[in-house]
Amino acid sequence: METIRCLILGSGPAGYTAAIYAGRAGITPVVYEGLQPGGQLTTTTEIENFPGYPDGIDANEMMDDLRRQAERFGAEIRSAICTQADLSQTPYKLTFDDGSQVACHTLIIATGASAKYLGLADEEKYRGQGVSACATCDGFFYRKKRVAVVGGGDTACEEASYLAGLASKVYLIVRKPYLRASKAMQERVLENPKIEVLFETNTIGLFGEDGVQGAHVVYRKGEADERTYDIEIDGFFLAIGHKPNSDLFKPWVETDELGYIVTEGMTPRTRVPGVFAAGDVADPLYRQAITAAASGCKAAIEAEKYLAAHKL
Ligand code: NDP
Repeated sequence: METIRCLILGSGPAGYTAAIYAGRAGITPVVYEGLQPGGQLTTTTEIENFPGYPDGIDANEMMDDLRRQAERFGAEIRSAICTQADLSQTPYKLTFDDGSQVACHTLIIATGASAKYLGLADEEKYRGQGVSACATCDGFFYRKKRVAVVGGGDTACEEASYLAGLASKVYLIVRKPYLRASKAMQERVLENPKIEVLFETNTIGLFGEDGVQGAHVVYRKGEADERTYDIEIDGFFLAIGHKPNSDLFKPWVETDELGYIVTEGMTPRTRVPGVFAAGDVADPLYRQAITAAASGCKAAIEAEKYLAAHKL
């Protein structure tokens, strides 16, 4: 079986940055791109908050650049998806959806997190055309426009408050008669004159010619006073939670109650020696491209140190 010195799972900013550093360090990284080559960023359009691009950059272009930069330093990029991991003994063994199996001395888990969506066909239809799961990424495009945020937790409240600083009007669509967010976040939302909270409301569809122009919503579905109506919006933001892509590794590494991989202090070290976690799979808080890239860098430095210490 092939044994790889530094295997990186995932091809978002964390995975590719790890590959750039590992490549330059001469530890011959192999990147498995995974389910969504280029990572979550490829679901957005333009990136304006990644340092170094004063005029912004198309998300796909940035991911292509990162990929080419990783390849320039010798990273090998493969396209299979990991389906099984055995981290019980070194070298660690991974199985992929094409049936292949490899072993590795160090593993960088940069499999990211997936934003949850409601499951409406219209979310797919308008993805990148008014539907987003990241206010920090895309909010800027809705200056002086009307937007809706779905969710009643801290993320939804935070995103609604952030968007209220840009947009002319923010609807917060909450399925329950109350917000689940912390008291402080609730107050911020409820006191903001630009935010209108639509309690006990669910979205059933979106409409619009060239992108989102509105949402069909239903108030108190199934009750005597059920009412279906439309709201006019240009942007529809999902904030109903993220799911870290850590399931395969749960038997081995420590995860928190939400499934995020727990790392040691400020390092990307997991409790399995030589196995590191970088990016959104280990970050319930920041979830930004730049923070993911930074943790990918740390993971590669750790992998290099580990290989050197073990003479591998
Ligand atoms: P949460 O799981 O806390 O909240 C998800 C929200 O989405 C809930 O209001 C939930 O409704 C709603 N929801 C879920 N599924 C659907 C659906 N299908 N349709 C409509 N609504 C839906 O996720 P968050 O991302 O908000 O937060 C995750 C964790 O991160 C939390 O622990 C939070 O406290 C923390 N966090 C902290 C922040 C801070 O401190 N500044 C900022 C952001 C997050 P319901 O209530 O009905 O289940």
